[in-house]
Amino acid sequence: MAATLIDGRAVARSLKEELSVRASEMIARGVMPHLAVVLVGENPASQVYVRNKENACVKAGIRSTVIRLAEDCAQQELEDVVASLNADGGVHGILVQLPLPGHLDEARVLRMIDPNKDVDGFHAMNSGRLMNGQPGFVPCTPLGVMKLLEAYDIPVRGKHAVVIGRSNIVGKPMAMLLLAADATVTICHSRTQNLAEITRQADILVAAVGRADFVTGDMVKPGAVVIDVGINRVEGKLVGDVDFESVSAVAGYLTPVPGGVGQMTIAMLLANTLDAAGGRGE
Ligand code: NAP
Repeated sequence: MAATLIDGRAVARSLKEELSVRASEMIARGVMPHLAVVLVGENPASQVYVRNKENACVKAGIRSTVIRLAEDCAQQELEDVVASLNADGGVHGILVQLPLPGHLDEARVLRMIDPNKDVDGFHAMNSGRLMNGQPGFVPCTPLGVMKLLEAYDIPVRGKHAVVIGRSNIVGKPMAMLLLAADATVTICHSRTQNLAEITRQADILVAAVGRADFVTGDMVKPGAVVIDVGINRVEGKLVGDVDFESVSAVAGYLTPVPGGVGQMTIAMLLANTLDAAGGRGE
């Protein structure tokens, strides 16, 4: 039996509608939610992501400012921009689009962002809060995955969730969120031995690897929920980390690429920005 496809596009659309109502209520109370995005250089994928974020903000009634810096910009110039956005009371959310050009110290820049404006949730203060079970900003992609599970009434408590990938952006926060929702969580990575043996035990399998068609049907337990976070470009086409054909024949639920998790990431960014404008933080 073919897996039920999780329609991230539809879930994101209805979330964005709710968020735009929230934004207009804020504006009526005299607060104009404002996201500032810092884009360094000419990376084509980053340009597309930033444009999509800008458009989503405009549609939701959130003010968006993009600060563009040259590819060869100095560390100090970038840090000055972040410092001025930190100090600007009219800016609620700050996002530095990654990856930064190689000569820049990414970790240092992320550390500089005011944790209360850190709508990407990458600041160590916010990862610490997530780890400690305290409220804070959570990275948008794993947060979006949790919203998808919720939207489809997929139970998490007591389930075995296996996350492939341990990045600070996806894998680790994903594992923390699943743990907080009472799943039993296994994290796998490039040094994991007998990966397929572990993934076959998963009730919920999250693939955040960055390799096209990495998860195949023989790695999936029949009826499992498979969440494909991957975005890979193969011959100009977007594909996930999951081999759609073989996995959809085995899984119970599956997120397609495109049209799955990716749609949720921007919706969560808007949600985090509204939380920031509403005074989320200490
Ligand atoms: P990343 O930083 O490159 O991390 C990839 C992870 O996969 C690493 O932890 C790595 O292990 C692990 N890995 C690599 N090869 C493996 C193997 N053979 N077996 C098991 N694990 C392996 O990537 P990321 O930023 O987390 O992103 C992952 C994917 O999600 C990418 O395709 C990215 O484009 C996509 N993504 C999508 C969204 C969205 O909105 N949908 C957002 C962010 C990212 P090690 O730690 O041992 O190296």
